[in-house]
Amino acid sequence: MHRAMQDWSMRISHVIDHAAREAGVREIVTRWADGSETRTTWAGIRADALKMAQALKALGIRKGDRVASLAMNHSRHLVSWYGVAGMGGVLHTVNPRLFDDQLEYIVNHAEDRVLLYDAAFQPIVDRMKPRWPTVEHYVCYDSGAHGIAFEDWIATQDGDFTWVGGEETDPCMLCYTSGTTGNPKGVVYEHRSTVLHAVAGLQPSTFNFSPSTVMLPVVPMFHAASWGLPYAGAMAGIKFVFSAVNDPAVLHGLMLREGVTDSAGVPTVWLAHFQYCDREGIALPPLKAATIGGSAAPRFMIERLMKNGTRVQHAWGMTETSPIGTVGGPTCDWERLSFEERVAKTAMQGRPIFGVQLRTVDLDDMVTELPRDGVSSGALQIRGPWVIKRYFKAEEDAVNAQGWFDTGDVGILHPDGTLQLTDRTKDVIKSGGEWISSVELENAAMGHPDVAEAAAVGIYHPKWDERPVLFVVKKDGSQLSSADVIEHLKPLVAKWWLPDAVEFVDDIPHTATGKISKKDLRDRFSDYRLEA
Ligand code: AMP
Repeated sequence: MHRAMQDWSMRISHVIDHAAREAGVREIVTRWADGSETRTTWAGIRADALKMAQALKALGIRKGDRVASLAMNHSRHLVSWYGVAGMGGVLHTVNPRLFDDQLEYIVNHAEDRVLLYDAAFQPIVDRMKPRWPTVEHYVCYDSGAHGIAFEDWIATQDGDFTWVGGEETDPCMLCYTSGTTGNPKGVVYEHRSTVLHAVAGLQPSTFNFSPSTVMLPVVPMFHAASWGLPYAGAMAGIKFVFSAVNDPAVLHGLMLREGVTDSAGVPTVWLAHFQYCDREGIALPPLKAATIGGSAAPRFMIERLMKNGTRVQHAWGMTETSPIGTVGGPTCDWERLSFEERVAKTAMQGRPIFGVQLRTVDLDDMVTELPRDGVSSGALQIRGPWVIKRYFKAEEDAVNAQGWFDTGDVGILHPDGTLQLTDRTKDVIKSGGEWISSVELENAAMGHPDVAEAAAVGIYHPKWDERPVLFVVKKDGSQLSSADVIEHLKPLVAKWWLPDAVEFVDDIPHTATGKISKKDLRDRFSDYRLEA
């Protein structure tokens, strides 16, 4: 039989072509690090991406070559996402918060040939240049002071370029995960996986975009493809507002002035925004939707946003899953739920989006599948078309024989499909043979008005094997005591979950992606002992 439908390979170039054609006038606004602002459109992004693709070709960059970016969120970074993929290259988004040794490792491992960077990261570039022998060309996004400036570089081209074609499964992006042990690992996104993931992102139960959406993504473009927003946003033709700095005052001003309806970021970003508004005595911005992910969204955060009239989309995912696995939003029983019940439901991690399959297995044998009963807690495994099969340059697959990837997370699946994440396999605390969720303890503690941040860690205990210790950063000027924290926790967690000690600290270490680093916290307190 003849093929009944037309060929249409799932490649990134279709995404930007569509955005330029169907939403060509929709604006892309950037607030730069120096305070200046620029405006372009989806048509402008495509025109620049064509010039950039041509300029890369002129440098001798070939299909499959890696081009790195060391940059915050802005329109020129967006141009690079489409320009690099459009010429058949692979954009390696580098996290500028990594340590020098990690920066050295990943750029060499990726064999990046070009590095595009923000002037703010010039000190990193100056320091690392001798350690990055594969990088032949440096282009600065926002200044020509130390080499070619991006705008001058692409202006050398006329944009008369045809997107490079190829297989749907060709690579288009490379992101390294900041693993807690060993060297970072590279996750390669393919054109097909990226397009499918972005289409899934358009579902009302995912990002719920419409042409009137104005999105300010705070989640960096260097972390897990900014949750796929730059692709899904192009498909829906939304307006983007980017800020190259993450100062809450700047973000707040932009949100009000540009009519931002949606934003997305890790919990620490939202926390900083709350603190800014409280300090200034002003209201939260009138957002329609807030996507929170990367770490568990604490209940008080969800509650405050919902009281502000903002729909909270609590998402779970990983760099290895492109990254979206699950997203929470209004459920089928939403109308019947009380406000408290809605908050409780949203504090869970939502439901898998089409394409993604989840299961939990026994933590001890890692094979016995657990029931989706809302109580059984086990190791979370995932499979699907935008889930990793093998890390970049790895010798072996990262999945088991049935294609399941072990996430390293611990969770509970509910009968309605909701995922409730309870911990990381490495962080869950085993006390007397029973599991205690460090995340739940932290979230409960974070609900106290005087707690700025909290982290629970399992510490060796001669009788129970491990017992929880809670490290707490107090809010400025607070007189909070350990006893106050324990009293606050008592109605919220099982009695045997109560921490054996509450220690006040000035700060809690974070990873390069802004999450609490339990590893660093454990290292810092490696001499800490609990009495029997
Ligand atoms: P990364 O690859 O750096 O994005 O980290 C992925 C990890 O972040 C996951 O395996 C989870 O441990 C954690 N994570 C992501 N989203 C959530 C969430 N909504 N709640 C709790 N943990 C999360």
